[in-house]
Amino acid sequence: MYSKIEELVNIDYNDRAIDHLYRAARSLTKKPIIEEIADEILKIPAGRFIFLSTGSVTRTWVTPRIGETDGPLGTAVLAKRIREITHAIPVIVTEASLLDSISAVVQCAGLSVVTVEQAKAAQEKEKHGQTSVACLIPFTEDNAEGEAEAHRLMCEFDPAFVMCVEKAGFNENKIYHNMRGHDYSPGRARVDYLVEEAKKRGVYTVGVGDGGNEIGMGAIVDAVRKYVKYGEECQCGCGGGMAAVTATDLLLTASVSNWGCYAICAALALKCEKAAWAHNAKDEARMLNVAVQAGMVDGATGKSETTVDGFSLETNCAIVEFIRMMVARKIGK
Ligand SMILES: [Zn+2]
Repeated sequence: MYSKIEELVNIDYNDRAIDHLYRAARSLTKKPIIEEIADEILKIPAGRFIFLSTGSVTRTWVTPRIGETDGPLGTAVLAKRIREITHAIPVIVTEASLLDSISAVVQCAGLSVVTVEQAKAAQEKEKHGQTSVACLIPFTEDNAEGEAEAHRLMCEFDPAFVMCVEKAGFNENKIYHNMRGHDYSPGRARVDYLVEEAKKRGVYTVGVGDGGNEIGMGAIVDAVRKYVKYGEECQCGCGGGMAAVTATDLLLTASVSNWGCYAICAALALKCEKAAWAHNAKDEARMLNVAVQAGMVDGATGKSETTVDGFSLETNCAIVEFIRMMVARKIGK
């Protein structure tokens, strides 16, 4: 069932070669990718912090406060589940300019957004994760500060797990590219440094992406260069392609990164035999509406509408329901 679920979210619905990227990613793991990710999540010790990074600023020439609908929803749903299951405390790492809009989505997923100090109080005083909390922190948008800030945050929070969802990764020249191969580095958090610091310390890292330009894709960089337009050669003139070079221990591809997160939730539900832990269409619709009200837009169209990467609200809900049905049938309740 794990394979069927991850295959469902890796059909190349929008002609972006995700099927090729999925095959490359799948060749790196023994078990289905979502099963391996679920196994790693279930190992997270109670009471520890985890870093979940998401958020993609778009159209920064207008304002850096506009973020895309893909990424935050999946991350928020997964953060809620991980908090419930492992009692770890999610720390969402994103751009300073997106803290407000992503907070709204995280809150909508059923986590109380608290300050770092309050999250630390929850860590100290609660052994069983009684309060559904998460906090958000910004990360530097300056390459020169990346290493030092990553070091500082890893020391401060000592996270047990680091995951990036639809988080842009730089190419070999440390330039961030959109899917059209243009440089969109300004105003973007340099989370690659955080992932490298985590790997140095032996902290497990996971990436979820849908285009080839996200953190984690470094694990299949050759496939991205071969199959994705502008993967080998970008349009910005930097001399590298748009393929992201930062690799993670595990990489999950998906047609839409949010769907990848829902597939991981499904894997957790299967592992723990709790059908209710799969995401559901009612919550998806509620969250997508809140995301748009908070100022997020569809990254593909730029429009402030309840769509994700060009897929309608109904399509997103349909995928969510298909996944939920597959979990329910397997568990038999
Ligand atoms: Zn370039």
